[in-house]
Amino acid sequence: MMDKFNKAKPVLQKLIDNGYDVYFVGGCVRDHLLRREIGDVDIATSAKPEEVMTLFQRTVPTGLQHGTVLVLHDNESYEVTTFRTEDTYLDFRRPNAVNFVTSINEDLKRRDFSMNAIAMTIDHELIDPFKGEVAINEKLIVTVGKSIDRFKEDALRMMRAIRFVSQLQFQLDQETKESISENGYLIEKVAVERILVEFEKMLLGNGRKEAVNILIETHLEKSLPNLALHNDSLKKFAQLPLNYLETIEELWTVLIYKMNLEETGPFLRSWKMSNDRRKSILLLMDELNNNPSEWTNYDLYRIGLDKCIKLLRINMVINHSFNSDKLMELTKRYMSLPIKSSSDLCINGNDLLSWSNKKGGPWLKETIILVEKNILENQLENEMTAIREWFEQWDRQ
Ligand code: ATP
Ligand code: MG
Repeated sequence: MMDKFNKAKPVLQKLIDNGYDVYFVGGCVRDHLLRREIGDVDIATSAKPEEVMTLFQRTVPTGLQHGTVLVLHDNESYEVTTFRTEDTYLDFRRPNAVNFVTSINEDLKRRDFSMNAIAMTIDHELIDPFKGEVAINEKLIVTVGKSIDRFKEDALRMMRAIRFVSQLQFQLDQETKESISENGYLIEKVAVERILVEFEKMLLGNGRKEAVNILIETHLEKSLPNLALHNDSLKKFAQLPLNYLETIEELWTVLIYKMNLEETGPFLRSWKMSNDRRKSILLLMDELNNNPSEWTNYDLYRIGLDKCIKLLRINMVINHSFNSDKLMELTKRYMSLPIKSSSDLCINGNDLLSWSNKKGGPWLKETIILVEKNILENQLENEMTAIREWFEQWDRQ
C-alpha cells in the first residue's frame, strides 16, 4: 500500500523543490486511512497546469479546463490538478468555470464528502479541515458543507454518495440522506454517462444490497434512466446472492432479468453504455432462456467458455442455488471438447465446395454446423479424410 505513495514521491518532491505546495488528495488518502487498497494516486498542487507541464518531461494535457495534467513517471501516471474552486453551477451539472487558488484549504472545500476532502503531505501529515478522518472512523458519508447546497451545485453527488455506501460499506449521514430524498429529481439534469459510472461502481461494490435499498428508500431510482417503475424489481434484485457475480455484465443481466423488460435494447441504450457492453449484455440475455443443465456440447462450443461461466453464475444466483463445483464441472466439460472454436476445425467451406459439385450457398454454413455437431458429439473425428468420407455419403442422400 505504501508503495504507491512512495513511487509518487519524486513527482511531489520536484514540485516542492520548485517552490510549490503539493499534496496527495482524494480517494487515495481516504483509502489509505481505511487501510484499503489504493486506486489512483491523485495529486493537488499550487502550480498552474502550464507550470506542471514545463516541470515534467512527459505530460498529457488531459483536462486543462479543470486544471488537470497527467504526469507520467516511472511507468505510472498521476493526475496533477491545480488547487481550484468551482464557480456557480448554473444547471445542476458542472461548473461553468474553474478558478485557480493558492491554498489547499480552498480546494478541499469544493470536494464532495468530508472523507474525500483530506489532503496528505509528502511526509504523511494530514490536512483535514472538515473532520474527514472522524467520518471515516465512524464510517459516515457526510457532505462538505450543507448537503442541499452541494447537491444543487452538482446533483451527481447524490449518486456518488450511494455508490460509496456500496463500495466502502459506510452509512449516509442523516442530513445527507434526507437531502437526497428531497432533491433526487435534480439528477435528471446530469449527463447519463456520468451517472452510469457511479451506478456501475455501486453495482460492483460489496455493499450493493444496502446501497440499492437506500436508492429505493430515498426514491433516487425514480430519477434514473428507466428505473422509475421498477422499485419492486430492484428490491428483489438486491435480495439475491449477488456477491457470487463477478462482472458488471452479469450484474446488469440479473438486474434486467428481474425487471422483466419487454425489450432490453432500448433500456441499455437509455443508459448510454458502450456498444461492447451493450452487446455482451444482450447476448447473455438471449441465452438466459436455455437452462445450463441442458446445454449440449454444441451449445458450449457456440457460446464459448467465458460466456458459459457467466451464464451459469447468473443462473445459479437467480435460483439461489450457487455451487462452485458446477463451475468446475463446466470448465472440465468444455476443456474436453474435441474442438473449441471454428479455427480448430480441420476443414472449411472451400473444402466442402471442392468435394461437391454444388455451387456455394446457405448449405455450406449449415453443413459446417452439422460437421461441428457430429465432431462435438464424438460421432465424427476432426480429421480430413474422415470428414470427407462422411460428407460424400451425406451429400449423396
Ligand atoms: P475511487 O477510489 O472510486 O476512484 P475517488 O474518491 O477517487 O474514488 P473520483 O471520482 O476518482 O473518486 O474523484 C476523485 C476526487 O475528486 C474525490 O475523492 C473528490 O474529492 C473529488 N470529486 C470527484 N467528483 C466530485 C464531484 N462530483 N463533486 C465534488 N468533488 C468530487
Ligand atoms: Mg479516484
